[in-house]
Amino acid sequence: MQPNRREFLRASTGAALAAGFASASASAQSPLPVAEPASQERAPRNYEAWLDIDANALRHNAREIARLSGNLPILAVVKNNAYGLGIARVGPILDAAPEVAGLAVVKPEEALALRAAGVRKPILFMGLADVETGTELARRDVRLAPFTDDAGERLAAIARAIAKPVHVHLYIDSGMSRMGMPHTRALPWIEALAHATNVRIDGIYTELAESDQYDAAQVEQFNALITQLRDRRLNVGTRHAASSHALFFRSDIRLDMVRPGLALYGAYPAGARVKNLAELRPAFRLRAKVVRVTRLNTGDGVSYGRNYVAERPTWIATLPVGHADGYTRQAVRGAEVLINNRLYRVIGAVSASHTIIEVGDTQTVNVGDVATLVGPDDPAIHPNTLSERAGISVYDVLMHLNADLPTSSVS
Ligand SMILES: *Cc1c(COP(=O)(O)O)cnc(C)c1O
Repeated sequence: MQPNRREFLRASTGAALAAGFASASASAQSPLPVAEPASQERAPRNYEAWLDIDANALRHNAREIARLSGNLPILAVVKNNAYGLGIARVGPILDAAPEVAGLAVVKPEEALALRAAGVRKPILFMGLADVETGTELARRDVRLAPFTDDAGERLAAIARAIAKPVHVHLYIDSGMSRMGMPHTRALPWIEALAHATNVRIDGIYTELAESDQYDAAQVEQFNALITQLRDRRLNVGTRHAASSHALFFRSDIRLDMVRPGLALYGAYPAGARVKNLAELRPAFRLRAKVVRVTRLNTGDGVSYGRNYVAERPTWIATLPVGHADGYTRQAVRGAEVLINNRLYRVIGAVSASHTIIEVGDTQTVNVGDVATLVGPDDPAIHPNTLSERAGISVYDVLMHLNADLPTSSVS
C-alpha cells in the first residue's frame, strides 16, 4: 500500500481530469499511475484454474480501437468485472493507456473498486443512483448518468451533500427502450438541468440497438436533439454512442468519443473478425493444469450422461475447470484445448468443475501440464472461435468467467 504516493498523484492531476472526458491528451501527460494489485488477487493454489491477464494486449487493443475510430478518445467500458477479466487488475492498465479518456461501469461497487485500485481518470456510472449512493460516487469524482424525470432533485440533493456541483453525462434513449430519458421528452428535461447551478453537463450519450436497419435512425434522433440544444445555446459536452459493434459496422457513427467494451479485451463482435479492420488480441488466457491422465478401454464412457463412449482404446485427460469457472457447457460441441502446442478435443460433458479431453492413441500429456482453454495462442482457442463452435455469444465466453478465479499478469 502506498497511500501517500497515490494521494500525491491524484492531487497533481486533478486539474487535468476536471476538464472532462475529452482531455485524454492532458491525462496522458501526467505521471503514470501506480498499478497496485488489488487485495483480493492471489496466485492459483495447486491445481486451481486461473486467468492470465495480458497488459500488452489490452494496450494494443486500445491503440487499434483508437486507430479504427480516427483517433477519438475511448471511454473504456469495464462493467461486469471488466467483462470477467478482473476490474481491479484491468482498470489501472486501461487508466494508464493514453488512448483511454475515462472508464465506464454499471454497478456502483465497480466505480468504487476502480478508485480503490488507483484509477484516476474520469469514471462514468451508467446506472440509476439513489441520493446516498450518488453522493458516495460523486465524492470520489465519479460522473453520474441521469435519465429520470426527477433527476434535477436527485442531483440537487447530491450537490448539497458534497457541497459542489455534480458532473454528469446525460443518458438518452434514442429508441432502444432500455435505459435513458426518451429522446421525445428530453429537450425540456435537459434545458432544466442545463440551467441548474449545481449540475455540470460533461457529456451526452445514447446506446444503439445494433440493428442494421435501425442504428442510423437512432443516431438521427440523437443528432436532432443535439441540434435543438445547440440552437438554444446549451452546451452538453462530449457526445458518444459507439460500442464495439459500431466500431466495425457503423463508420458513420463516431461522434466525439467511442465507448467499447468487448473489443478492448480482444474479442470481436459477431461477424466483425472477417472484416479485417483491426487486429485485436485476446487479453486473457483461461488456464488449468492437467490433474488426471488415464487410458480408456473400448466401451468406457466419459462423464455425466456418457455422451462419449470409447470406440477403441484411447487416452483421456481431466482438467480441473468447468462451467462454474465460466467455461461453457457447450464446449462439447467442438471446442479444443491447447496443451504443449497441440490441440485436444473436449469430450463427454463439461461439468461444474471438470472438463475432459481426448488425448488419443499415445499419451502426449502428463499430470501438471498447462492447458489453455481460451486465449490468443491458437486460432482454435480464440474466444470468437469458441463462441462459434459452442454456439454461444462471445460476450458469454468472457463475462461468464468466475470473478473468484485467481489471476496472474503477463506483460
Ligand atoms: C456494455 C455497454 C457498452 C460496451 O459494449 P460492447 O459491445 O462490449 O462494446 C457500451 N455502452 C453501454 C451503455 C453498455 O452497456
